[in-house]
Amino acid sequence: MIHEIMPEVMDNQYRDRKPEGDSRVLFVRGREILVCEGADGISYPRYRDVEGQVGRMVYLFSISGRTYFLGEMQAPGIGSACFMGWEQLRDAVPRAEAFAGMTGIHLHQWYQSVQFCGRCGKKAVHHGTERMMYCPSCGNLMFPRIAPAVIVAVTDGERLLLTKYAGRENAHFALVAGFVEIGETAEECVQRELLEEVGIRVRDIRYYGSQPWGFAGNLMLAYTASLDGAHKIDLDRHELAEAVWLLPEEIPEIPDHSSLTREMIRRFKEGKL
Ligand SMILES: [Zn+2]
Repeated sequence: MIHEIMPEVMDNQYRDRKPEGDSRVLFVRGREILVCEGADGISYPRYRDVEGQVGRMVYLFSISGRTYFLGEMQAPGIGSACFMGWEQLRDAVPRAEAFAGMTGIHLHQWYQSVQFCGRCGKKAVHHGTERMMYCPSCGNLMFPRIAPAVIVAVTDGERLLLTKYAGRENAHFALVAGFVEIGETAEECVQRELLEEVGIRVRDIRYYGSQPWGFAGNLMLAYTASLDGAHKIDLDRHELAEAVWLLPEEIPEIPDHSSLTREMIRRFKEGKL
């Protein structure tokens, strides 16, 4: 999965750091990031190469001692580097650079959303020693925002429930997923989403694992569950185009292993879930 970068290690504690010549600079535009592509995969511009073309820089994290900064681009382009969309980034190599890009996109989206105080509307400022923005006018503290969401692999003992999202061309099979609401547990969210999206009930809800999914600002919490009652699906057509029960051999090959969803589908297909 995209966050599994061993033997590399990410250190995402905030520090008040200044860029050095070898620091990586992440330029983000929406859910795209500026990359240099070479024979060994992607890399990010070095500070020494973009020093005159970058505005404000914010320290993000380090990976195995390499430091990464968010940069404000002050030039129309940077050498031969080009923007890569998140769909390509999720499969990019080296894996640690793909994970750095995803995490940089998440942090960029958060910094973009807290430029002004959400309480009084005044300009917010960076805190010097913590990953935090604050409002000097009313004292509002704004910490990084992560939205918890669940995904659930439901089986009936033989078959896995797979869905396709509505409104997407060439959608791959996915699992039922949704955001945790304020005031509910992750397990209650699993039950609610299954009732809302496909109209089924489950039992034996078990935690499987979690994954940061920065492209959408989420922390994904994955569960397995067993069908409790009838297979009949009552599809929420606003959310889903399709929901089917498939045997392992009926499931198409999984195109990549970057997400928890795809890992769980692959493991079911291999009889390991
Ligand atoms: Zn304020």
